[in-house]
Amino acid sequence: MEDNIIVLIVEDDKYIVSFVTIYLNDEGYRIIVAGTGKEAISLFYANNPDIILLDLGLPDVDGLKLIKQIRERSNVPIIVVSAREEEEEKIKALDCGADDYMTKPFHIGELLARMRVAQRKLNRITNPDNVDSFTCENLTVDYSRGLVYVDNKEVHLTPMEFRLLKLLIANRGKVLTHNFLLNQIWGYSETADAKNLRVFMASLRRKIERDPANPRFILTQIGIGYRFVDE
Ligand code: CA
Repeated sequence: MEDNIIVLIVEDDKYIVSFVTIYLNDEGYRIIVAGTGKEAISLFYANNPDIILLDLGLPDVDGLKLIKQIRERSNVPIIVVSAREEEEEKIKALDCGADDYMTKPFHIGELLARMRVAQRKLNRITNPDNVDSFTCENLTVDYSRGLVYVDNKEVHLTPMEFRLLKLLIANRGKVLTHNFLLNQIWGYSETADAKNLRVFMASLRRKIERDPANPRFILTQIGIGYRFVDE
């Protein structure tokens, strides 16, 4: 199966392209390379890739514009690669619909781990979740009855906490930015801010994590947002 996975690498740095290509070929991925945003769009339409690895600093097009354009047509996993000084861009990229990010220079092991997460998302697109319940280790969420169990004991979540948990699980593996979560949970209300979110997250973690200080399920991406584990 794995040799069928097509990865579109959008990157103008030839060194990175050749280094990534060697490793991903070894892993059985099929690689297509675009050096510009223009090329990326035409290769995207022509090849319908399964995963996109996107450098934000392209010579011709703004990477964010590219993400929006792709998202109009497809839910394909997009992993953004950015330079250190593009920290802000990274958050914007996630808000535009990118799934994950890496900062240059990255380790090949890190890339392969992100690729595995992207593949699981891919599998979920073709085989959607059982909508009735979700189980991960000692955590079970019964969607139809709106109940949550930890170690087989029911825990009581507020409606807001339940929505937050549902949203995190539905997007597991993906980094959800503070902005995204605030908009999804509170809408565009003025009172919603990152501090509110931290309070809700702390309370949710106390209820579902065995050790809230070292969370197993909801991981913090410092300065960016949160991610529900997908492993
Ligand atoms: Ca670049």
